[in-house]
Amino acid sequence: MGLIVQKFGGTSVADADRIRNVARIITDTYKQGNSVVAVLSAQGDTTDDLIAKAGEINPNASKREMDMLLSTGEQISCALCAMAIEAMGFPVVSLTGWQAGVRTNSAYGDARIKHINGERILTELDKRSIVIVTGFQGINKCDDVTTLGRGGSDTSAVALAAALHADLCQIYTDVEGVYTADPRCVKGAQKLPEITYDEMLELATLGAQVLHNRSVEMAKRYNVNLEVLSSFSGKPGTKVKEVVKAMEKTQVSGVAKDKNIGRLALVGLADQPGIAFKIFSLLAKNRINVDIILQSIGRGNTKDISFTVSRPELLRAKTILEEYRESIGFDHIDVSENIAKVSIVGAGMVNNPGVASMMFEALYVGGINIQMISTSEIKVSVLVDVTEADRAVQLIHDRFFGEHMLG
Ligand code: ADP
Ligand code: ASP
Ligand code: MG
Repeated sequence: MGLIVQKFGGTSVADADRIRNVARIITDTYKQGNSVVAVLSAQGDTTDDLIAKAGEINPNASKREMDMLLSTGEQISCALCAMAIEAMGFPVVSLTGWQAGVRTNSAYGDARIKHINGERILTELDKRSIVIVTGFQGINKCDDVTTLGRGGSDTSAVALAAALHADLCQIYTDVEGVYTADPRCVKGAQKLPEITYDEMLELATLGAQVLHNRSVEMAKRYNVNLEVLSSFSGKPGTKVKEVVKAMEKTQVSGVAKDKNIGRLALVGLADQPGIAFKIFSLLAKNRINVDIILQSIGRGNTKDISFTVSRPELLRAKTILEEYRESIGFDHIDVSENIAKVSIVGAGMVNNPGVASMMFEALYVGGINIQMISTSEIKVSVLVDVTEADRAVQLIHDRFFGEHMLG
């Protein structure tokens, strides 16, 4: 018996039957004597539909009004789920982000949770009510509604689990846990019984959407006992924790893919000190995150610098750099959207120098050209042509997890 936070994603609450199924999971947990806080996403494609609806009215709508609109999706699913639980005869209350005390900064559309005042939730739990909270939203210092960025309900759940000192945070989704690669796209993907926070954070950041990366960061910071599992199968899922038993054995835990990136290349820069500083300090000042960076060897007196940014930042980055063309001093900028990042992640690779070469071998055998490479202690990422990305993931996955690797 304890306090359990359970989060249900969009597919898990997509229609009336699924909402009843979720209500059953919640009330079963409650019947075992636990206090339950459930965090829900909007139903199915509701958030995408709301974005499209806004586009019909005003494609340049302010971020504040977008948040006002998008936050409604989660209110619908929470109210409906509370109604289902009421119908089953259990005490229940649904709360919006502001009613639940979720305070954020003012970055509409990508707000960070600053603080949760859990008083209202605790009062309801003391009355033995089940509490349903809207994911993905909070309020800022002006009492305006904010949203946390796409996929942000995971972060709402983990933040609530941390603030309420919950014994467990369960993320219920439409697959049975965290796999060695996206099980919907990669043949032979295997469910991981457990994974470290660090590896999960890398996988999530590198494109495995099963968890919002900020939720993993927060789970690590507050040592939240986290589990990813299916709302459909009832099978044990994946535990995300600080240390896992099998850590020494596996070199690679998973393969991830990110198509939501773009590449900029500044061609014809002067080959002299201070150029990289000028470029990247300008981007940092404009809060543009840069990922993989590659500088060519100088040719004559010039060199090129290429780097990747997230796709939505691509044009903004280009515009800003072009404004400063004179002072940075370059010939022209090349922009490419036809790229994808494919990565392997594993805590065990730091002591195994052969891991990166196995990945490159798989790409070589498949005739896939690597455009850029970046490594850290627990990951290797490569950029490939976007049309090759799915095949690259499958080839790399086969190399590390294929049948010939078993036993
Ligand atoms: P929810 O709506 O429940 O938040 P998401 O769609 O955000 O669900 O995340 C679940 C999806 O993440 C899965 O359906 C799967 O296609 C995808 N996914 C990508 N990489 C992985 C992975 N390594 N393990 C499990 N699922 C993954
Ligand atoms: N409904 C939001 C989205 O679709 C948040 C979430 O589901 O986590 O991004
Ligand atoms: Mg999600």
